[in-house]
Amino acid sequence: AGAASLALTLTACGQSGDGGSKEKTGDTKGGTIGIAMPTKSSERWIADGKNVVNELQAKGYKTKLVYGEDDPETQVSQIENLITQGVKGLIIAAIDNKSLNSVLQQAADANIPVISYDRLILGTKNVDYYASFDNEKVGRLQGTYIVHKLGLDSGKKGPFNIELFAGSNDDNNTRYFFNGAMSVLKPYMDKKQLIVQSGDTQLTQVTTLRWDGATAQKRMDDILTKAYTSKKVDAVLSPYDGISIGILSSLKSDGYGSGSKPLPVITGQDAELASVKSIIAGEQTQTVFKDIRKLAKVAAVMVDDVLKGKKPQVNDTKSYDNKAKVVPAYLLQPVSVDKSNYEDALVKTGYYTDAQLK
Ligand code: BGC
Repeated sequence: AGAASLALTLTACGQSGDGGSKEKTGDTKGGTIGIAMPTKSSERWIADGKNVVNELQAKGYKTKLVYGEDDPETQVSQIENLITQGVKGLIIAAIDNKSLNSVLQQAADANIPVISYDRLILGTKNVDYYASFDNEKVGRLQGTYIVHKLGLDSGKKGPFNIELFAGSNDDNNTRYFFNGAMSVLKPYMDKKQLIVQSGDTQLTQVTTLRWDGATAQKRMDDILTKAYTSKKVDAVLSPYDGISIGILSSLKSDGYGSGSKPLPVITGQDAELASVKSIIAGEQTQTVFKDIRKLAKVAAVMVDDVLKGKKPQVNDTKSYDNKAKVVPAYLLQPVSVDKSNYEDALVKTGYYTDAQLK
């Protein structure tokens, strides 16, 4: 059965059910699985950690969950500790996709399977499987949304001013998101229907280290000062809700959102609570919802299968070359969300309750 058909026990707030307390305290002969998450600074990763723990405990495993506080060295030593403590498997969402080679060699030497969670770990053969979303599609959804909202796909010619933001340069997902968005936006840029007044059009010019909202806010401030004293921003490609919040603060302190300066179309990702509220309030325009409850389930099933000598189900065996091997992947589908469909996408699916969004 594919992930979409897996039965989910759901509670609100993007957290999966705990599988029932009986299962939690029950059979733990499966051993302990180490889970290394990148940061608690964003809701999604907090929920990811809890979800993976719940899924594994429901399967009879014990779990050790660690957060690397966005510091690659901390994450490396946390994983070293997990290996020393004798974990049977590892599920890792990397902070710096290239910093884990030597620690994953230690994992391989100890025969510990590794599932790369959400973000692909690069440059090592010692990654067994990849559980993620169609990351290129996340970007395409953002780009398509901008084009549609500006009316470029229904005959409007513009030109419209757009600014581009991308995620952290050490996160492998960043270039997938950016390239996906650019595959839609670039043809309009070439035709001068979309104009990047700052001139920053290359990925290397627009990344945001560790996805930090304050860093993005500062860059937007600089862009507004440099390129928009007599012009108006019509759209901003933002890869992640936390970055969108920073960009929105910058725009609002420049007078956008009042009088004759409407806020631009601004995208996002993760459907974090503050951003969904912002969408409902008419500030942020769009986000990309990725049902991380399903991702946790996929990752837990993968590690369980590997440990039981079964071949995990994958649905992509070509897209994710980590430069040492093509990592077999199970990719889930992202969904574009705005004011018109958040009820269906987020409330009817039990991800949030209506009360949380008030
Ligand atoms: C994830 C996104 C998230 C970003 C920042 C990426 O690797 O795929 O969902 O917005 O990290 O945490």
